[in-house]
Amino acid sequence: MNFAGMINQSLLDYPGEIATVLFTRGCNFACPFCHNGHLLLNFNKDQRDEIELEKIMAFLEDRKGFIDAVVISGGEPTLYPELPETIRQIKGRGFLLKLDTNGTNSDMLSYLLQEKLLDYVAMDIKAPLEFKKYQEASGRLTNADFFNVRASVNLLMQADIRVEFRTTVVQELHSYEDIEAIARHITGAQLYSLQQFNPSNTLEPSFGSCLPYDKEQMEKLASLCAPYVKEVRVVNI
Ligand code: SF4
Repeated sequence: MNFAGMINQSLLDYPGEIATVLFTRGCNFACPFCHNGHLLLNFNKDQRDEIELEKIMAFLEDRKGFIDAVVISGGEPTLYPELPETIRQIKGRGFLLKLDTNGTNSDMLSYLLQEKLLDYVAMDIKAPLEFKKYQEASGRLTNADFFNVRASVNLLMQADIRVEFRTTVVQELHSYEDIEAIARHITGAQLYSLQQFNPSNTLEPSFGSCLPYDKEQMEKLASLCAPYVKEVRVVNI
């Protein structure tokens, strides 16, 4: 399995650990607010060759004791059937593993949890779990994807690893009530992160002129979610 990009070391992507971040190419969603358009466009399986796994493994071997964790992000990493084997190789070298996912491959997520291949999962919840709203926020949505997103939420609510649910909050897509509805859906969750929308380099160009909720509004949203989950984190741009 090859990767489209890599951050050698990050203090932000796996809270509390020094992590290497790997990015996969391609996504089955097309969220209008997405900033990773460079990873999504021109997805072609024949072109998945930017950074070879062997090179990444050699890099990680070199930095054992300095790098604690590996974060696999995207795009959508679970589009790759080789992902479990890749994770097995990384974890076999003693690194913690965090997966960022949109939750559309609940079968793979279930397998990874069962095999104890994950230490931390951050899953996006794009909108309240209603088909039309989810379709609007994800850009495209099949019935199967929607079913799988709901199944992934259920799986992660029961998982005994670190779990973060997160939403990029966009005024055009989310009312206060929508964000509260998401928090209610994940009542009891460890962590719900609200990411302030950044209108630069959006996949859908018209979203570039949408104003983000300001800091005060983000705090208000956090206070609406607080009764439902153990921790709410606001990530401002
Ligand atoms: S923001 Fe949406 S389109 Fe972009 S990588 Fe994540 S799930 Fe895919």
